[in-house]
Amino acid sequence: MTQKYNPQEIEKKWQEKWAADRIYEVSEDSTRPKFYALTMFPYTSGDLHIGHWYPMAPSDTHARFKRMQGYNVLHPMGFDAFGLPAENAAISRGIHPYEWTMKNVENMRRQLRSIGAIYDWNHEVVTCQPEYYKWTQWFFLKFFNAGLAYRAKAPVNWCPRCQTVLANEQVVGEGLCDRCGTLVTKRDLEQWFFRITKYAEELLDHSRIDWPERINIMQRNWIGKSEGAEISFKLEYETAGQKEISVFTTRPDTIFGVTFFLLAPENPLVPQLTTPERKVEVEEYIVWCRRQAEYERTALGREKTGVFLGTYVINPLSGERVPIWITDYVLPTYGTGAVMAVPGHDERDFEFARKFNLPVRTVIAPPDWTGEQLMEAYTEPGVMVNSGEFTGLSSAQGYEGICALLEEEGGGKRTTIYRLRDWLISRQRYWGAPIPVVYCDRCGVVPVPENDLPVLLPPDAEFKPTGESPLKHCQSFVNTTCPKCSGPAQRETDTMDTFMCSSWYFLRYTSPGIEDAPFDTDKVKYWLPVDLYTGGAEHAVMHLFYARFFIKALKDMGLVDFDEPFTHLFNQGIIIYQGGKMSKSKGNVISPDEYVAEIGADAVRAYLMFIGPWEMGGEWSDSGIVGISRWINRIWNLVEEGYDGGTLRPDAEKELRHISHKTIKKVTEDLEKFRFNTMLASLMELTNYLAKVKEARAVSDSLWQEAVGYLLLLLAPAVPHLAEELWGRTGHPYSIHNQSWPEFDEELTREEEFTLVIQVNGKLRDKVLVPASISEAEVKELALGRERVKTYMDNSKHAKVIYVPKRVVNIVIA
Ligand SMILES: [Zn+2]
Ligand SMILES: [Zn+2]
Repeated sequence: MTQKYNPQEIEKKWQEKWAADRIYEVSEDSTRPKFYALTMFPYTSGDLHIGHWYPMAPSDTHARFKRMQGYNVLHPMGFDAFGLPAENAAISRGIHPYEWTMKNVENMRRQLRSIGAIYDWNHEVVTCQPEYYKWTQWFFLKFFNAGLAYRAKAPVNWCPRCQTVLANEQVVGEGLCDRCGTLVTKRDLEQWFFRITKYAEELLDHSRIDWPERINIMQRNWIGKSEGAEISFKLEYETAGQKEISVFTTRPDTIFGVTFFLLAPENPLVPQLTTPERKVEVEEYIVWCRRQAEYERTALGREKTGVFLGTYVINPLSGERVPIWITDYVLPTYGTGAVMAVPGHDERDFEFARKFNLPVRTVIAPPDWTGEQLMEAYTEPGVMVNSGEFTGLSSAQGYEGICALLEEEGGGKRTTIYRLRDWLISRQRYWGAPIPVVYCDRCGVVPVPENDLPVLLPPDAEFKPTGESPLKHCQSFVNTTCPKCSGPAQRETDTMDTFMCSSWYFLRYTSPGIEDAPFDTDKVKYWLPVDLYTGGAEHAVMHLFYARFFIKALKDMGLVDFDEPFTHLFNQGIIIYQGGKMSKSKGNVISPDEYVAEIGADAVRAYLMFIGPWEMGGEWSDSGIVGISRWINRIWNLVEEGYDGGTLRPDAEKELRHISHKTIKKVTEDLEKFRFNTMLASLMELTNYLAKVKEARAVSDSLWQEAVGYLLLLLAPAVPHLAEELWGRTGHPYSIHNQSWPEFDEELTREEEFTLVIQVNGKLRDKVLVPASISEAEVKELALGRERVKTYMDNSKHAKVIYVPKRVVNIVIA
């Protein structure tokens, strides 16, 4: 008697058996090629919803496929557990962040187990555990010793709601906090920075990694490399020992068009350069600027503001006096914080000149220019005019000529600048790894010795945000002795940005149990770099950027022997539900648990892969998942009911072999390219086809068994429980997941072809080789589209198309 498909029973059974038999346990093995398949570890904010499964189920399917192909696959799982969201959630629930986080970890482990993935839980990491963050602190010390970590007072991005500073990368959109959407303001604080700018040039180079171009572009834009010249403008009157101010410009060819000179209001020279009669106005303006957000200051089209200081610089080429103004659209952090304003050839400078009635001079002629006043800035290259000895040259020639002259005279030089700023890693919050530094009155900044790590996060600190680090108020934590002089000292009370934790977790995965090092060097040598990293594109200028920097720095310290962590990156899309991305705050979240309980994990896995191209995502629909569940039931019945052979027909057998091998080829190619949806579509076609074969009873029993075996092997990565169960039920040895991936015979995949004769009004006009499986509609479309046919048709409309299958098509013209 045929048994009914019961996913609840078989999924539980196989998950327990796989775990008991440890079939997914991973170890280093020099006889097989390694494949490190990493998926971004989830943040421990609460339950996993379907949106969280979306990166994971297809990643697991791909990893299983590589495993069956003979690779030694590491596909680990862990938890990104420190940080603001967990802390905020814990505060709103009145429980300790540790308790909240570990409860979530527990629940997420259960949910992740139910997915039926090949995670080897012996490799799990949880970043908020002391045995992990001890090494995050250790890396801080390494960066410090290498001169890559430093402390500085700086205006930083401050979120008034989260009560903490944010890295530039965490300020999104129009100057908003990426955690809570609050408008970010500025504050001056002593902070720890990582010198990521030292790696700007290396980080621009994506030539040795296979990443989506849009991520590379986002990273390049973030680094913001500009080539140009640094040019000194002498002050008309030397002040406080200062003789000149230098500017950075990408357009030295426009220097004869400078009609005013701009400084950032924060520029320290401003007070000295302000004449007494301008003092009040200037000071008022500076106060006003402090209240403006950075994105507003630089927004195009924003009404221009500024104040004249009353003093002048001298144009080094033309010798003209140029008035000095301050304006908010010049940022102190970009270039030198000073700008030579060329209103004729820069949009913002043009708007500024208009507002304050400053002269606009054309020095680069637009095409067909006849000397008239420009009505807008002309920013393209052109022919130089009004430019002294350079008049008549092209912009490019002028650029070179002016740079050469300045370099010769010592008034400037060609240079490159970057928009990228150093990575701010201090957070004034509780839930993070403490920065392992103490401050001693006698010795100054003293790093905590490696042997004293970890600096434990005190469990009893009052952690509610006050704008100051909560640890400041925890006396037992703050007061310590100096490791150098044994005198009294204070601990650093800021914690580290959680992006520190996620910059190296993939190293720890290889050897999470190791106690005397962050990772086992041999194991990292074996597994790294990551062969395939899957996850969301939203991490382009944060996690994916920081991790690259981290590894490049570790390589320079001699700690690893590779300098790009992720060889191949794939970004999946997102799952839409009720018109938007699933999020708890919007209340449009679907929990996988109820679906798993009702129709099984295999159906959920398959549906997520069928919903659309993985890189695009798709819209969750309940009827869609029911369709997948029906298909899985059909597979079950097809295989479980068995086969009764009848009269054998060689052409039927030939066709079954052809279809089987064609499907193996298609599924293999689709899996290589992450085309899970079309892979499933061809497996559905194969299922339908096998149902017809079963009905027709025209193939041998052994050939039927072979075809079913192929079907199950091809299904194994996507629906692992179903495939395992049916594999056993059809008499195969356990486990299907230890079988080799089926190979296809290219000869058998080849389509049968025939020569289609094309007639117009019964006369032979064309011939073409077509696949035997071509449909009548395809034949008509093909025939009518042929150039030779068109010439005989004379623009007349065809009356009729007659097709004699596998032979001839005749187009009849009225
Ligand atoms: Zn915030
Ligand atoms: Zn000391």
